Amino acid sequence: MADYEYDLLVIGAGPAGESAAMAGVKNKMKVGVVDAQAALGGNCTHKGTIPSKALRNAVKQAIRYKSHPLFRHIADNQPLTYPRILSAASEVIPKQIKLHTEFFSRNRVQVHNGFASFLSKNEVQVRDEQGARDVIVAKNILIATGSRPYHPPEIDFSHPRVYDSDTILNMQHTPRTLIIFGAGVIGCEYASIFSGLGLKVDLINGRDRLLSFLDDEISDALSYHLRSNGVMVRHNEAHEAIESTEHGVVLKLLSGKRIRADALLWCNGRTGNTDGLALENAGLEANHRGQLTVDRNYRTKVENIYAAGDVIGWPSLASASYDQGRSVVDAMLGKGVRFVENAPTGIYTIPEISSVGKTEVELTKAKVPYEVGRAFFRDTARGQISGEDVGMLKILFHIDTHEILGIHCFGAEASEIVHIGQAVMDQTGKANSINYFANSTFNYPTMAEAYRVAALNGLNRVNRH
Ligand SMILES: Cc1cc2nc3c(=O)[nH]c(=O)nc-3n(C[C@H](O)[C@H](O)[C@H](O)COP(=O)(O)OP(=O)(O)OC[C@H]3O[C@@H](n4cnc5c(N)ncnc54)[C@H](O)[C@@H]3O)c2cc1C
Repeated sequence: MADYEYDLLVIGAGPAGESAAMAGVKNKMKVGVVDAQAALGGNCTHKGTIPSKALRNAVKQAIRYKSHPLFRHIADNQPLTYPRILSAASEVIPKQIKLHTEFFSRNRVQVHNGFASFLSKNEVQVRDEQGARDVIVAKNILIATGSRPYHPPEIDFSHPRVYDSDTILNMQHTPRTLIIFGAGVIGCEYASIFSGLGLKVDLINGRDRLLSFLDDEISDALSYHLRSNGVMVRHNEAHEAIESTEHGVVLKLLSGKRIRADALLWCNGRTGNTDGLALENAGLEANHRGQLTVDRNYRTKVENIYAAGDVIGWPSLASASYDQGRSVVDAMLGKGVRFVENAPTGIYTIPEISSVGKTEVELTKAKVPYEVGRAFFRDTARGQISGEDVGMLKILFHIDTHEILGIHCFGAEASEIVHIGQAVMDQTGKANSINYFANSTFNYPTMAEAYRVAALNGLNRVNRH
């Protein structure tokens, strides 16, 4: 006997689950949501995007104060500890929880607090912390259970000096030295945060360059700025063992190096939250990373079960998850589905990085004749006035058609600036042209003006051909 019945049951109230629930309600579905956490917002709010961005914002403000001649004397009297920064950053979390809770209540979505697992392809049981059990029957089910840091079995994550990206949000001391193992987006972002706080950071990368999916010039700029902020970047390394003592950790690398630090932050890989879902009862199974495979309608191999967000793997972004959740409802309604594959990259290192479209390496490989237009923030009035003059905007465009093929940006507000280029790039036909930027009047002084400067720079280069 079912305790509740829905048209759509969403498991997980993060970005993917929330947007699917809202879209379902707007389309007159009876929607229920289950989340194991009592406070809504998903891991995005509690452990991922929001806390890390708030921490980064607090550190960035502190750096600005410390380097500004008008405020330096105030900042110098305020020793910056990680717990203080963490406490300032945490203030945004209750605001986010309130916002998300209101979305659900305003739209009359029933939220069940408890851990969900399948009984069959249409039935889910929800157990709360007190052991109470409800059975929910639903026509369609969305699995949006997100991901968590991957824990290699040989590493003791219960040791008080060994952290992952979840537990680092509970660290109550300020180490002097920190090893970050894993130089993906999360590792690089935390390297910026901790080096900004004045820690000596060793960033261990398994590959031969940082964030190799980025345009080379941007990845090089990131390496340069991390290094100049005191981060020791070590490429092509693999871990052999971690020895943790009462006072610190020693990381042994396969290359024979031994690195000692007060603490270690493990940022190497994530795993989908599918264990405990009893997928087998629904006829599903996850891959070795705990992820589910979906088609371009976000449907799993079981017709009425969909999956979206981190649990399906790449791109594993909150931004993409929101769109995927809405697409799932379109798929259920038989509407045209937008499969999210061109999500821009927003990387909140210091300086910030953002890009959309092709890189130079990709265009060269594809033998596309392209040209490059560049603008350096140090040459813009706004950059000089604000003092945030580190950075660059780079536009890649087709030599003959002037079609914009890629936008790559690093520096202050890069993740905002990129969207101006994205809007033009997403136009069809002749409307997608770098000429737009050469022929439009921009507010002055703005960072957006960098588009005009980069366009003129690029078009001048073409005219030389
Ligand atoms: C440190 C860090 C920084 C990040 N920064 C960014 C960023 O700047 N920009 C960006 O776009 N993305 C960022 N991300 C990624 C982003 O947080 C994720 O892509 C996003 O949270 C995924 O959303 P989701 O809907 O898949 O689920 P999640 O946000 O992971 O939420 C899943 C929910 O499902 C619940 N759940 C799991 N299993 C069950 C179950 N069996 N029963 C009931 N409930 C269950 C969990 O309690 C959780 O609330 C970052 C991630 C991390 C870790």
